[in-house]
Amino acid sequence: MSRALLHGRFTSLAHSLPHLPLGKAPTPVRELTGLTAAVPVWCKDESVYGSGGWGGNKVRKLEWILPDMHRKGAGTLLTVGGLGTNWGLAAALYGQEQGFSTAIALIDQPIDDHVRAQLVRLRQSGATLHYTRTKRRTIAAAPWLFLRHISGGTLPYFLPAGGSSPVGTLGYVEAALELAEQVAAGELPEPSHVVTAVGSGGTAAGLALGLRLAGLQSRVVGVVVNDTLRLNAATVAALAGRTERLLLERGANFPPIGLSADQVTIVREWLGPGYGHATREAEQARSVAATNASLEVEPVYTAKALAALLAMASGGLLDSGPVLFLNTYGPR
Ligand SMILES: *Cc1c(COP(=O)(O)O)cnc(C)c1O
Repeated sequence: MSRALLHGRFTSLAHSLPHLPLGKAPTPVRELTGLTAAVPVWCKDESVYGSGGWGGNKVRKLEWILPDMHRKGAGTLLTVGGLGTNWGLAAALYGQEQGFSTAIALIDQPIDDHVRAQLVRLRQSGATLHYTRTKRRTIAAAPWLFLRHISGGTLPYFLPAGGSSPVGTLGYVEAALELAEQVAAGELPEPSHVVTAVGSGGTAAGLALGLRLAGLQSRVVGVVVNDTLRLNAATVAALAGRTERLLLERGANFPPIGLSADQVTIVREWLGPGYGHATREAEQARSVAATNASLEVEPVYTAKALAALLAMASGGLLDSGPVLFLNTYGPR
C-alpha cells in the first residue's frame, strides 16, 4: 500500500487525515509535441488513475473522502451533479466498494450521446438517483434528501458538486506534491503554468496549494467550464484557504501559504454557452490533440481546457512555458 506524500511530509496527518489509495501513483507525464510551436507542452495523465470502473480526477478526491466517511461513521454519501456527472459515477462506484450507499441529486444538462451513456451507467451503479432538475429545486429538496438518506441513525455525508470539499481537495494537494517529485527527478521541467479545467474548483485549488507547499513556482491556470457554480480566482483561492486550514487543524506543520486570488489565473472565455455545451474551439482542440498528439479529450471539460491552453499560448499569455496540461478525464 503506497503511503500518501502528504503523510510523508507531515507525518502527524496519517491518523487525522486517513488516506485510501485507489490508483497507482505517480501518474505518467509526457511531452505533447505537435500541438503548438508557441511553448513546450507537457501532459500529466490523470486519466489512468483509479481502478475498476472509472478513473480520472475524482478518484484522487475520493481517496480522502471515503476514509473520512468511515471516520465519521457515515453510511451514505449524498451529493449533486449534472445528468452526465463524472463525479457522481465515481462516488457511486468507489463508495459502494467501500460499503457506502450513494444518493445523487441530478440537475439537467444538455443531453448528447455521451450524457446518455453516462446516465445508463449511473442507473446501473446502484446509486439512488433523484431527478431534481434545477439548482433551485435541489436546494429546496435538500432537507427532504437529508432525512430520506439517514442510515443507522446517521445523517448522510454531504459532498458539494464535484466532491470539492476541503477534504476532497486534498487529492490535488497530493497530486501537486507528486508532480514536484517528478520535476525533482528530472522527468519533466518545472512548468511555468499548469492548465486544468474548472468544474467545481477542487482540482485547481488543491494544485495551487500543493504547488506552493512543494516550493514550485508554477502558476495554476483554471479554465472554467461550468456556469452553474460561482467560480473565479477568489472562490478558488478561498477553497485553497479552507483546505490549508484543514491541514493545519489536523496537525500539519508548515509556514502559512495564504494563497491569494492574484496567485491563480481563472479564465471563462472557453465556456461557450454553458456547462456541457459544445464549442467550435473545443472541437478543434479535440481533433488536433487526437491527430497530432494521440491524446483523447472530451467536450465537457478537457477539450475546453486544451483549447484555452492553445489560444493562450499563441497569444503569449503563458510566457515561454513549459506548460503542463492536466488530463483529468478517465472513462473505462
Ligand atoms: C470534474 C472534472 C473536472 C473538474 O474538476 P473540479 O475539481 O470539479 O474543478 C475536470 N475534468 C473532468 C473530466 C472532470 O470530470
